[in-house]
Amino acid sequence: MKAFRELEALLSAREKPVKVFFRDDDGGWADDHLQAVCEDFTNLELPLDIAVIPDALSDRSIELVSRLINSSDRFAIHQHGFTHANHQLQGRSCEFGSDRSYQQQYNDIAAGKKILTAAFGSQVKPIFTPPWNRCNSDTASALHALDIEYLSRIVRSEPIDTAVPEFSVTVDWLKKNKGVALNQAQLTDYICGHFNTADDVIGIMLHHEHMDQDNRVLFGEFVDTLKASQIVSFHSMMSIAQ
Ligand SMILES: [Zn+2]
Repeated sequence: MKAFRELEALLSAREKPVKVFFRDDDGGWADDHLQAVCEDFTNLELPLDIAVIPDALSDRSIELVSRLINSSDRFAIHQHGFTHANHQLQGRSCEFGSDRSYQQQYNDIAAGKKILTAAFGSQVKPIFTPPWNRCNSDTASALHALDIEYLSRIVRSEPIDTAVPEFSVTVDWLKKNKGVALNQAQLTDYICGHFNTADDVIGIMLHHEHMDQDNRVLFGEFVDTLKASQIVSFHSMMSIAQ
């Protein structure tokens, strides 16, 4: 817990309870890393929502994800885009942005939903996380039309007309500054900043494919710090949404 001493102090001074959820993006990629992160979550006894890329699912990915969600209530899945391709000709990467019409977005989300439903049936939660946390108002309208109830991006995303309720992640566990990963002190400061100002919910975004052994050990220390606090509780995304 040494690495997160400032967070420990902040949490012990905070009185207001905070609910924490974890969203791991890019299911379908890097199965071995996903498996390792999920083993950690099992050992840590925490819930994890995995955002799955429909078009990336191999037979092996489907087998792994099925095993996870059938093994324990702690694992839940939802849709993460369709192919995770960038369709934006200029500017920041985006699968569901201004260079895609409403109909194109609708078709992609519907195609992705169909793949996930065929693979996992009713176990898919009605949440949509757009790749790179970016989308526009047409995306939200398409989600509504397709009975996907919630949108999840990251805090301070560009405002859009949300046809569906949105609940965002707050903290990027692999936060970078100008392309360089934060060092330990910067990461602690960044996380403390969010826990300092958070109202009652904090979502932590993970990317299993970039979490190596050292990073997972550090993540374990972060979680131990949260668990040691009386005011932090852990929840699935659906339990928070409802
Ligand atoms: Zn992604």
